[in-house]
Order: sequence, then structure tokens, then C-alpha cells
Amino acid sequence: EAKAQGKNNYHIFTEAINQQVHERLSLEHAIHEGLRKGEFELYYQPKVHLQTMQVIGLEALIRWNHPERGLVSPAEFIPLAEESHLIFDLGNWVLGEALNQLQQWGAHLPEGVRVAINISPRQLAQPSIVSQIIDMAGHFGVPLQRLDLEVTETSLLEDEAQASQHLSALRRHGVTISLDDFGTGYSSLTFLRRLPIDAVKIDRSFVSQIAFEGEDRTIVQAIMDMCLKLGLKIVAEGIESADQLSFLVANDCHEAQGYMFSKPMPADQVLAFLRQPEYLAI
Ligand code: C2E
Ligand code: MG
Ligand code: MG
Ligand code: MG
Repeated sequence: EAKAQGKNNYHIFTEAINQQVHERLSLEHAIHEGLRKGEFELYYQPKVHLQTMQVIGLEALIRWNHPERGLVSPAEFIPLAEESHLIFDLGNWVLGEALNQLQQWGAHLPEGVRVAINISPRQLAQPSIVSQIIDMAGHFGVPLQRLDLEVTETSLLEDEAQASQHLSALRRHGVTISLDDFGTGYSSLTFLRRLPIDAVKIDRSFVSQIAFEGEDRTIVQAIMDMCLKLGLKIVAEGIESADQLSFLVANDCHEAQGYMFSKPMPADQVLAFLRQPEYLAI
């Protein structure tokens, strides 16, 4: 009886696993096919300099135009891709696509505007990442001063020496480095101080709270104060309201990004947005 039940549980268990494995494999297959069929697209979200209210950067954010599922968010496939070799395929595609776009925009993109690319931890750990970026930029004739890489703390924690070496090499060539989602990880002050980074992006989960008195506001103030003293650029992500904006300006935040200025947009809308900056009207 117990034995039979045990067998039954085992059956249910393996079926659940089979289903998970099956879903994973079919999603992996779909990503692979999607890349082949050109279903991926980069959207761009402006970063605004808070003293001049000029756009000084564009973050490239991947989108998947799935034939049946519609526009799929990266939150649904990047984490899975990160567990397989697919993150290298996707990462290479993003890099090539962003550089191709930069080449097309050419001098139409105002001087000083950088395109920011999100780099996965495993991508950054690849020994060939530095030469790959340099070679690809060369291939498209894009100056490396046009690029910013957004990396997360996780990228740096696993093999800090190697990641730091790659980032330092890229910085010497003119690429800037931003630490993404700051505040959500475990970084210590000393860690932040020794990293080869130019900017810190304060995570949206904090920014969404700064219009209210409370602990989050205190944390953001402390983070900003510390970054200012370390000579790092501060970028606030996910700003949605005028209250948030005035807090950030009052606390000397350098740059901000969020729906308040613009949602991420397809590449073909970017130049028009830069010419008619509605975001100035706020
Ligand atoms: P992230 O790099 O922290 O990007 C910011 C996310 O916040 C984006 O979501 C953006 O659309 C969203 N966002 C920006 N402003 C606001 C706002 O005011 N309100 C709200 N509610 N959301 C805002 P998205 O595009 O869905 O990307 C999610 C995450 O997926 C990214 O977080 C990044 O970690 C990852 N990701 C996106 N594109 C790529 C890529 O090309 N490569 C890699 N490795 N990861 C990517
Ligand atoms: Mg990012
Ligand atoms: Mg972020
Ligand atoms: Mg984030």
C-alpha cells in the first residue's frame, strides 16, 4: 500500500518535472527560432540629464515580437536564457543590433548621447568579451565613446577580479560602465569604491518610494550622498512623478530615466523624440 503510494507520488513528481523540462525546452527552442526569424527588437529609453533636461543616453531594452504571444517582456525570457548558452546568442544579437543602429543614426544622434547595453553576468565573464565589443564597434565604425554597459552586482561578485579586468579594459577604450539595479544587492561601501564603474543606477524600487517620508527616502539619500563623495554619477531609474523629480533634483541626482520622460520606444521614433522633446514641458 505504502509502496504503491510511493510509486504514485514518484509518478506525479516525474510528470511535473517532465512538464517543466518540456516547457523550458520549448521556450529555449522558441528563442532560438525567434533569433533566426528576426522576432527580436531593441527599444530605447531616454536618460535625461537633470541640470540641462537634455537627453544624454538611451538604454537599449530587448523585446520579443512573438507571433502568437505578442510582445513578450525580457523578464519572461532573459532569466531562462541566462541559464543556457542562449544568453550568448541573445547578448551578441543585442550588441550587433545596437551598434548597427548607432551606425544608422550616425551624426543624427547628438554628440555625447550614449547607448546603454545590458550585459549579463556570464557574458561579462567571457574571456573574449573585450575584444568582441571592440571588434564589433570597429566593424560598424562606431566610436566606443558611444557605448555604456549596464552591469549588475551579481556580475561582479562571482569573479570580481576577472570582471573588473574586463570592465577596466573597456573603460580605457572609452566605454562607460553603470552599475544597474543598485540597492537591491549586497554591495558594501568598500566594494563600490574599488569597482571600475562610472555611474550607479538607483533601482526603481527605491525611486518609487522617495516622494514619501520614510526609510526608503533615507536610504536613497544615503546612497546618493555616498556616490557623490565617491565621484560616481547617479542615475535614478523608473521615475514616474513630478514629486520624485523634485526630490532627485534637490538631492543633486545627475540623471534620471523613467516613464515620466518616456517609455522605451522603437528605434524609428528616437530621432523624432530627440527633436521634439515633450519631456521638456514637464
Ligand atoms: P533594467 O535594465 O533595470 O531596465 C529597466 C526596466 O524598467 C525596463 O524594463 C524598463 O522598461 C522599466 N522601466 C523604466 N522606467 C520605468 C518606469 O518609470 N516605471 C516602470 N514601471 N518601469 C520602468 P524591461 O524593458 O521590461 O526590462 C526588464 C529587465 O530585463 C531589465 O532591467 C534588464 O535586467 C533585462 N533586460 C532588458 N533588455 C536586456 C538585454 O538586452 N540584455 C540583458 N542581458 N538583459 C536585458
Ligand atoms: Mg538596465
Ligand atoms: Mg535597472
Ligand atoms: Mg531593473
